[in-house]
Amino acid sequence: MLLKVLPVGLLSVNCSLLVDEKTGHALIVDPGAQGDKIIEELDGYKPVGIVATHGHIDHVGQVRTLKERFSIPFYMHRADLFLLDNTLWPGFERQIGANLPCPEPDMYLEDGMTLSLGELSIVVIHTPGHTPGLCCLYVEEAKVLIAGDLLFKGSVGRWDLPGGDLSALKSSLNRIFSELEDDVLVVCGHYEETTIGQERRWNPYLRSL
Ligand SMILES: [Zn+2]
Ligand SMILES: [Zn+2]
Repeated sequence: MLLKVLPVGLLSVNCSLLVDEKTGHALIVDPGAQGDKIIEELDGYKPVGIVATHGHIDHVGQVRTLKERFSIPFYMHRADLFLLDNTLWPGFERQIGANLPCPEPDMYLEDGMTLSLGELSIVVIHTPGHTPGLCCLYVEEAKVLIAGDLLFKGSVGRWDLPGGDLSALKSSLNRIFSELEDDVLVVCGHYEETTIGQERRWNPYLRSL
């Protein structure tokens, strides 16, 4: 698998492009801003779908642009639908260059669901807490976890926004750290990437939560 991580927009959201090298099929994850830059990076590949790890505007801001450009399905968990109209941060879409309204998902992500990308299988892990519908994507063949805002290098996602839930966040983190091995690469929703092992050893929140 080829993985391209593009920090986009004012909040530097990590938009990930997962590409199956045999078929050139590409999955776009969290296209929050800078649709043109994302489209440019997709040159030579065949985009087959768009996934939002969760419904915050900084992660879905360019779903509409990409859907219109490529006519491909959009996937997100049903529990985050209430976030798509962005009543959370009114007017913020103009500042971060989001193209709203974000279309409703064509298919809802569910825990344990598998998305195929060429010859790759991508497993959906529902990990609520930051938002009720946050889902991680795990590519076992490549040992890569796309974690959205569940987890950051040395930190964890906020649970104080509407729909956030600290006890759900704790169970989701417990699950991820019990199911995944130390050498799994973690692409976080913002900032640098990390590994499960690095966070298991050094993340202060995992001990104090
Ligand atoms: Zn978020
Ligand atoms: Zn975010």
